[in-house]
Formats: sequence, C-alpha cells, structure tokens
Amino acid sequence: MYIARNIERIIERIARAAALAGRSTDEVTLLAISKTFDREAISQAIDAGLTKFGENRVQEAETKIPSFAGRPGLEWHLVGHLQSNKARRAVELFDIIHSVDSYRLAERLSRTCLEIQKKISVLIQIDLGGEETKFGADPNTIQELAGSISQLPGLQLDGLMTIPPFLENPDDVRPFFARLRELRDSIEAAQPGCLGRRHLSMGMSHDFEAAIREGATIVRIGTAIFGSRRNL
Ligand SMILES: *Cc1c(COP(=O)(O)O)cnc(C)c1O
Repeated sequence: MYIARNIERIIERIARAAALAGRSTDEVTLLAISKTFDREAISQAIDAGLTKFGENRVQEAETKIPSFAGRPGLEWHLVGHLQSNKARRAVELFDIIHSVDSYRLAERLSRTCLEIQKKISVLIQIDLGGEETKFGADPNTIQELAGSISQLPGLQLDGLMTIPPFLENPDDVRPFFARLRELRDSIEAAQPGCLGRRHLSMGMSHDFEAAIREGATIVRIGTAIFGSRRNL
C-alpha cells in the first residue's frame, strides 16, 4: 500500500505549504498524474481517496479512462500537448484540458463540444521560457488569446498552466510560478471574469511546495505518488 502512504504524505506536505503561504488547503487541488501507470495503481489511489487524475496522451487515455466507467465521480485531466487531429477524442474522454496553447486548437475544441453537447473546462498553457517546454502560448500576447478563448461558446476558460524548466533547487523555480500568477492577475484586472475559476496549474513532484507558496491551485503530481516511471 505504498501508494496510499505516499498520498497521505503528499496531502500533509500540501497542507504545510499552504499554511506557510497563509492559504487554506481547500484552495489546492491534488491532481494525480497517472501516465504510464496501470489500472491497479490508479485503483489504489482511488481507494486512498483521490478522484482527480491527469494523463498526458490521448492514446494512452483511450483505454484507461473508459475502464473506470464503473467508478463514478472521477475527473480526468489532459495535461500533455494536444494535436488538433485528436481534439475530438480528447473532448470525449476528458473533463479538463490544461494544454490549450492556440486559438486554433481552442476553436476546434469548442466546435466539438457544441457538436457532442459537452462543456469542458480548459486552461491556457503558457511557455515561460523553459527550454524543455516546446509548447505553450507566448506570454506577450496572452491578454488577446485569453480574451478570445473566453468568448468561445463550447468551452469554459478557467485559468492558466505552465511547465517551468527543471531546476535542481525548487526555490529557483519560484520566479516562474510567480510570473504565472502575475499574468493571471493582470488578465483578470484587464478583463474581469475572463479566467473563470482563475486556476493556476503549476508544480510537480519536486517543486509543488514552491508552487503552492506562489499561489498554485492545482498541483500535478506523478512520481511522488506512484513511484518512478519506466522510460517509454
Ligand atoms: C508527468 C507530468 C507531471 C508529473 O510529473 P512528476 O514529476 O512525476 O510529478 C506533471 N505535469 C505534466 C504536464 C506532466 O507531463
């Protein structure tokens, strides 16, 4: 039952980081990133009380998500890059998409949502200059992008997401998290209500406490829950 124990520890660490930031734990959602892990591992996490899971590839989610149809109340998030030819399948499978990085993709998702009569929530992924993150919208044009995506009828725009560069010391990542928060606040100041629930999806296993200190509302945690991933 190492997964249940890991989850217990992560929840404690989230609570401590939130307290240090003068925030309530309820403001931080734990999203378990289950990519590469099997049904059995995810079932253990569900039994330990988790309901929100993130996957990074539509193809992998294709078999995994429907296999949990018998367990109601789960929420599935797509956190990886989405190619527009998989937009339809993504809408069918997921509840929230964190990786919207262009108007073109958002428009396609919105059209599909209207067609199949499903409203999904989306976040705009922003590229804050991490060399490892090849994807994400340009922060310099984010006002316009957020404004136009928020008008799309099939989608609910709910905030921003980023994947900062991997830096050994999590404190060195904090400026990236602060920058995402500042971008959110400036969008909300100029266009009140534009970002819906105003989510900041940021922080992973090795830096989630720093992200919480800077205002993260969704932390995406894989290895600290499930163990290390085999190379794909
Ligand atoms: C894999 C992944 C995570 C989780 O990373 P860990 O270091 O295993 O916690 C978070 N976000 C995204 C976008 C990922 O692809």
